[in-house]
Amino acid sequence: MSVINVTRSSMPDFAEYCEEIRELWDSHWLTNMGVKHKTLEAALQKRLQCEYLTLFTNGHLALENLIEAFGLHGEIITTPFTFASTTHAIVRCGCTPVFCDIDPVSFTLDPKKLEALITDKTVAILPVHVYGNLCDVDAIDAIAKRHDLPVLYDAAHAFGVERDGVSAACFGDAAMFSFHATKVFNTIEGGAVCCRDAQTLQRLCDLKNFGIHGPESTPYVGGNAKMNEFCAAMGLCNLRHLDEELEKRRKVSERYDEQLAGVPGLQINRIPDGVRSNYAYYPVVFDGYRYTRDEVYALLAEHDVIARKYFYPLTNAFECYRGQPGFDPKDTPIAAHVADRVLTLPLYADLPLETVDQICKIILS
Ligand SMILES: *Cc1c(COP(=O)(O)O)cnc(C)c1O
Repeated sequence: MSVINVTRSSMPDFAEYCEEIRELWDSHWLTNMGVKHKTLEAALQKRLQCEYLTLFTNGHLALENLIEAFGLHGEIITTPFTFASTTHAIVRCGCTPVFCDIDPVSFTLDPKKLEALITDKTVAILPVHVYGNLCDVDAIDAIAKRHDLPVLYDAAHAFGVERDGVSAACFGDAAMFSFHATKVFNTIEGGAVCCRDAQTLQRLCDLKNFGIHGPESTPYVGGNAKMNEFCAAMGLCNLRHLDEELEKRRKVSERYDEQLAGVPGLQINRIPDGVRSNYAYYPVVFDGYRYTRDEVYALLAEHDVIARKYFYPLTNAFECYRGQPGFDPKDTPIAAHVADRVLTLPLYADLPLETVDQICKIILS
């Protein structure tokens, strides 16, 4: 068996991509909201059921621009059980993250712990649909409405996820998606924000292009976070094959389920009724199993299977934040417990089912 990595980027056929970018050699229009950018935005508006959507050069800058577009200054309640980007975006925008603990089943922000963290400094709630598991959007929405706070979702993992036919893009006041190479749908590097009104959309469009609104009007101190035509073209190609890819991911995921469900000491991810999953990750929590998470990780590595301790460490344990008030994993004990025990197993569309069997055999040995 050659080395099996935790993920492998989806790519179209070389010829299909060449065909997609051919016209760029006629137009010489390489970036700044060209034809590929416009076509991909329209396709994604449809796919994500969101009228107000704009593309970004990556998910991280999409999130920073979103926080800026909402004009937030103060405390933002969020989860430490996420990728570095979520917390860094809040801090880099001059806001203060306030960490809420997670639900032990969905691993998303626990609304039961949310209200106690709201103060007169709170300006927003920024939960994460981690692993593509939808947050308890109804409970979060009810609390946010009571306190008149916007809810911005980090939906980086949730492309294609739906609940009762409603896309993850439709929850909250806005949602950020990542189209990084390692995500379910990729544009090499890329991202998008979905929002609810034309005014917010316009602000986002201006912010990602140096704050420029028109030839003689620059209302914002913006940076540069535009998606280029080559990335948009990659997205157009990958989008054509997405349903096929999701179907293959489902088969891989179910093959794991068949062998790992019900094994004492293993907690696998559950997809609630009515939810259409995107099978983005295959997290397993090793809690009371005969091997610890770190032992399983090492055992797999010996067999050239590279799993990932995703998410470990918690972002509130990062050394860049050490000693700062409010950054303490002890404040989020369930997140800390899961982070010490979770491993995401290899999962991508073309992972052979026999490889899944071999991985399970190693874990169950
Ligand atoms: C990938 C990711 C991001 C950042 O997206 P990029 O496109 O890589 O910049 C943000 N949040 C989460 C949870 C992610 O997994």
